[in-house]
Amino acid sequence: MVGNLESQTVEGVSGEIIPIPITKNISNDKFIIKNQNGLFKLVSLPFVRQDLLITRHEIDVKVKWVNFGESKITIKDDSKVNLSPSDQTRANREALEIKTALSVSTNEITPSFKFIRPIPGVITSPFGKQRFINGQLRSAHLALDIDGSIGTPIVAPLKGKVVLIGDFFYTGITIILDHGYGLFSSYAHMSEVKVKVGDLIEQSQTIGLVGTTGRSTGPHLHWTVYFDGNKVNPESLIQENYLTSIFKVS
Ligand SMILES: [Zn+2]
Repeated sequence: MVGNLESQTVEGVSGEIIPIPITKNISNDKFIIKNQNGLFKLVSLPFVRQDLLITRHEIDVKVKWVNFGESKITIKDDSKVNLSPSDQTRANREALEIKTALSVSTNEITPSFKFIRPIPGVITSPFGKQRFINGQLRSAHLALDIDGSIGTPIVAPLKGKVVLIGDFFYTGITIILDHGYGLFSSYAHMSEVKVKVGDLIEQSQTIGLVGTTGRSTGPHLHWTVYFDGNKVNPESLIQENYLTSIFKVS
């Protein structure tokens, strides 16, 4: 290993993906990006509530805290906030089903990271906002909410394989796409699904329609992106030349 790598500290922002310099192909991962500056592996940084130093692939990474703000929402149906034992059992079972779907990713697709928006519309809740539901502190909103009316077509923002379809307590009618190499995305509160588990979906193909199923305050798309084991900020991914832009950060 090259000696000067040890002194290198990389930094990035909570909930973002950053390139990490590596000296050799690691853990049989063929998805390594090569450019004039060497070999890089893309890693995701966790959402943090204060600056945090972590180590990824032998490199120290400083994860910088960002104030994403707060949002206070009211859900009139209290049974969706303070769950009955049977609803809690159901929610736990569904969380496990989702976790299982995210545990294995295909290497048959290499993600281009050239995302497009899944629906047009205004962003109504950004990634990372601290949520208070009916006055109670809840987990941060690690997804992007985009406004839409019932029936608005949702398109695949990137090529992917359908790995899960369900009708869940919190997220209602939901699809999870596997884009390869640990990159997944999910689409929640839908009114209708237009694909089947196992389907290979091209970018911009319709996968379903906007709805307000599950625990939702009105029709919108709740879009979550997972990469390398963390939920990451979808709003960054739809920027122009995303992949080039993350290599430009010094
Ligand atoms: Zn949401």
